[in-house]
Amino acid sequence: MSEVTGPVPAVSAVGLGKSYRRGQWALRDCGFTVPAGRVCGVVGPNGAGKSTLFGLMAQLFAPSEGELRIFGEPAGAPGLRERIGCVTQSKPLYPSFTVEETLRLGRELNPRWDEAGARRVVELGELSPTARVGSLSGGQRSRVALALAIGKRPELLLLDEPLADVDPLARHELMGLLLSEAAEHGTTVLISSHLLAELDGAIDHVLLVQSGRVRLAGELDEILDNHWLVTGLADGPRPPGDAVEWRVTGRQATGLLRTDSPVPDAWEPSRPQLEQLLLGYLRNPDSPAPNAHGTPSTCEAAA
Ligand code: ADP
Repeated sequence: MSEVTGPVPAVSAVGLGKSYRRGQWALRDCGFTVPAGRVCGVVGPNGAGKSTLFGLMAQLFAPSEGELRIFGEPAGAPGLRERIGCVTQSKPLYPSFTVEETLRLGRELNPRWDEAGARRVVELGELSPTARVGSLSGGQRSRVALALAIGKRPELLLLDEPLADVDPLARHELMGLLLSEAAEHGTTVLISSHLLAELDGAIDHVLLVQSGRVRLAGELDEILDNHWLVTGLADGPRPPGDAVEWRVTGRQATGLLRTDSPVPDAWEPSRPQLEQLLLGYLRNPDSPAPNAHGTPSTCEAAA
């Protein structure tokens, strides 16, 4: 990787790949950058490679090829793990520990422990400090795992579908809490979720992973500014740009276009919502994508 200019990104990848078995790639040729302080949504279908990407960033295993840097340090560098908090779907907690004992363990293991931050997460869920973790519901265990991750006060917080088994009301409350903690401490957050509408308004950066590749990566506003939903007559000339999705119903055509050019008057344009944009890409895995070849995607990327 050539010299990085400007602020050091929280995460940067160039030609990143991971193979669990020889010849089978869970992730391949991925290039992207997440600037520090962003809240980045990681989206994609099941089996796309999201958890593999989280595992690489959490230093659970090493890349098979390419380069991954966290705050400018190569993955695996000493001292990086302490700067990273991670909540995965498996939530490894000790079932025989009480909630209180779990928090105490977090406090003893982490020199930068944020007692107030961790307690806030637990108390908002009205969890009894004396309850054994093994007796809690899946959603309550998620809350304890999140409390530990927030208490660690990481610079990079990795959340792989952390709220999947939390009820909608608690999910909303926890998401708000997470975002305010992240904003207060300048934490970079990467969060995966299948609930696309829920990410809207919460994220300012996006990574779309599909079939082991990063198809779309960058600042959300920039990406949305380059896309248009268009509607017009199917027999007219198509507007310029790359059609991510194109559908014809009777005489009418509607499409999701990626373009820098103005949309011609014959077509009615509207700005897509995040969910419409992502669904357009997900429904059309073979349509052209700007970040399909492992190239860095934002201005903070390696030159
Ligand atoms: P996602 O999180 O997007 O659902 P994963 O990263 O879990 O995707 O999986 C990507 C691919 O890697 C899938 O084909 C999956 O079967 C494979 N895979 C994931 N973990 C392992 C593993 N430990 N051993 C072998 N293959 C794996």
